[in-house]
Amino acid sequence: MKYIILLGDGMADHPLDACQGRTPIEAAHTPNMDRVARMGVTGLFCPIPEGMPPGSDVGNLSLFGYDPRVSFSGRAAIEAASQGITLAADEVAFRCNLVTLSDGVMKDFTAGHITTEEASELIHHLDKELSASFPIRLHCGVSYRHTGILKADSGCTVEDLAQAVCEPPHNITGQSFEPFLPQGAAADLLIALMQASQKALQEHPVNVARIASGKLPAVSLWPWGQGRALTLESYRDRFGVSGAVISAVDLVKGIGVCAGLEVLHVEGATGWIDTNYAGKVAAALNALEEHDFVYLHVEAPDEAAHQGSIPLKIQAIEDFDAKVVAPVIAYAADRKDCRILVAPDHFTLISTKTHASGAVPFALCGPGIQPGESAAYGEGAALSSGIMIPDGHRLTVDFLKEETLSF
Ligand SMILES: [Zn+2]
Repeated sequence: MKYIILLGDGMADHPLDACQGRTPIEAAHTPNMDRVARMGVTGLFCPIPEGMPPGSDVGNLSLFGYDPRVSFSGRAAIEAASQGITLAADEVAFRCNLVTLSDGVMKDFTAGHITTEEASELIHHLDKELSASFPIRLHCGVSYRHTGILKADSGCTVEDLAQAVCEPPHNITGQSFEPFLPQGAAADLLIALMQASQKALQEHPVNVARIASGKLPAVSLWPWGQGRALTLESYRDRFGVSGAVISAVDLVKGIGVCAGLEVLHVEGATGWIDTNYAGKVAAALNALEEHDFVYLHVEAPDEAAHQGSIPLKIQAIEDFDAKVVAPVIAYAADRKDCRILVAPDHFTLISTKTHASGAVPFALCGPGIQPGESAAYGEGAALSSGIMIPDGHRLTVDFLKEETLSF
């Protein structure tokens, strides 16, 4: 059997007045996800265990079939793994966003979706400047997403660093950032680091050029999501399958690395609506020639919702449906030995521009899955099915079993 998980990051949402009481998934034209629901089963599941932060780290761990309550150690440690960074016992990895701050406000947590080329120049510059006075090394990731490895020293223990309270910058878009600066025993160090980054970025030619062409500058590093090294049981040992991961974002690739999966690089995978959908699907289907399992992650619906844009979110969902789900269904129809699971990792709400916990809809189909009665994929249809999986990671654990699935 072949197992295919298609992950539309943050595509779940609440009903919106602007969509006549429908959610973006329901308002979007999604004949292919509807087909998965019709050929198989749809229902609700909770990828975010109660009391845990509703992030893509926790949600994707669940979708990979790991219980986040057991496995989760902070997203930056996962991202570090994807960059090939090994953490020592006295080191903590922080996600360091390049952000745009303006007039005391978090204007943009993506620094205007800065390009990786521009970011790479800035991060190398910052690494040189900051490592002279702070116990940090910086690694360049994709676009605005980077990693800082902080080493414990006489002033700050590894526990201080791991337990610092750091606000995800995407939660405070348009708000005054001052109340959300790092807190706890490592706060002084982290805030000093941010201030030093602001000084080093101010006159940098990359920012001067961005401003001149009407783009947002990268004003500051924003550290958050820190964690110590993550260890996961390998996919081969846990599920008896080999597999591959395709994603633009380090977080998802990092879970793949930690789970012993092959992480495939796809040219032009951006994490935005201009991503190379065809390249990602081709890589996924190609990987199934030698693997049993593939995990294809698309970031765009989440990013569109963070911008609060209903049209962009709907477009991202429709693109996911037409450019990812459709060709995968066609492939599965030819082979007849494929299971497909479509799901988001959490809500990303248009109303708040941020993530939320709660039960989100999945749809799955394939051999050994008895068709239910749903006609469509969406929050309402999933609720009507009466199927609910409170321990979200169980969904994937059951999906990956060879035996017949009943709900
Ligand atoms: Zn998000």
